[in-house]
Amino acid sequence: MPDVRHERTLIFIKPDGVQRGLVGEVLRRFERAGLKIIGLKMVQATPDFLEKHYPQTEDFLRTLGGKTREAFAAAGLDVKEQTGSDDPLAIGRAVRGWLIDYVASSPVVAFVLEGIQAVGTARKLVGDTLPFRAAPGTIRGDFSIDSPTVANLQRRPVRNLIHASGTVEEADFEIGLWFRPEELFAYRRVDEVLIQGE
Ligand code: ATP
Ligand code: MG
Repeated sequence: MPDVRHERTLIFIKPDGVQRGLVGEVLRRFERAGLKIIGLKMVQATPDFLEKHYPQTEDFLRTLGGKTREAFAAAGLDVKEQTGSDDPLAIGRAVRGWLIDYVASSPVVAFVLEGIQAVGTARKLVGDTLPFRAAPGTIRGDFSIDSPTVANLQRRPVRNLIHASGTVEEADFEIGLWFRPEELFAYRRVDEVLIQGE
């Protein structure tokens, strides 16, 4: 059985979060919920590095492109006129390119969190991908109102402050990519004893 008590997830605060001075606020929310920081650093990610982080898989590109196409349709805009294509794969490739350029444009703060169902718990605190839809109380809902309707017209990714791994598999891959084993630390938080026992 997987050890849900010690699940790990990778988070990074994107350039918009760092530039808005939200590093402390974001860390506070994860720490407060009981997730343990086991590695932390500021990184200037290169486009080559981010090419590895954001997969080229058809699945990822289609999902990204599909969401973008929906956003154009919802805003009554002609996606083909705006992006040159109405194929989700091609649109996904374009958005992925904007995303890589944006995240590489300025330093990010990356960290690994460990705790009970860390992947799902972190996503819950982060909120919906699209800030205008993210619930109040979540990081994206409380600190952003960006929407793809505006972002896509400006040919930029949605600024949603933060990345959080989507699945345990994604987290394993991303932690291995962003952190060397010696950059991750083992220690006990005092509240672990209360919640999980000795
Ligand atoms: P992340 O992986 O960054 O935590 P997520 O898993 O909620 O976010 P993904 O579908 O993996 O969302 O999309 C990756 C990133 O692509 C999003 O965080 C966002 O910055 C950008 N993005 C997603 N959808 C759109 C869109 N329709 N238009 C512009 N950018 C988008
Ligand atoms: Mg994702």
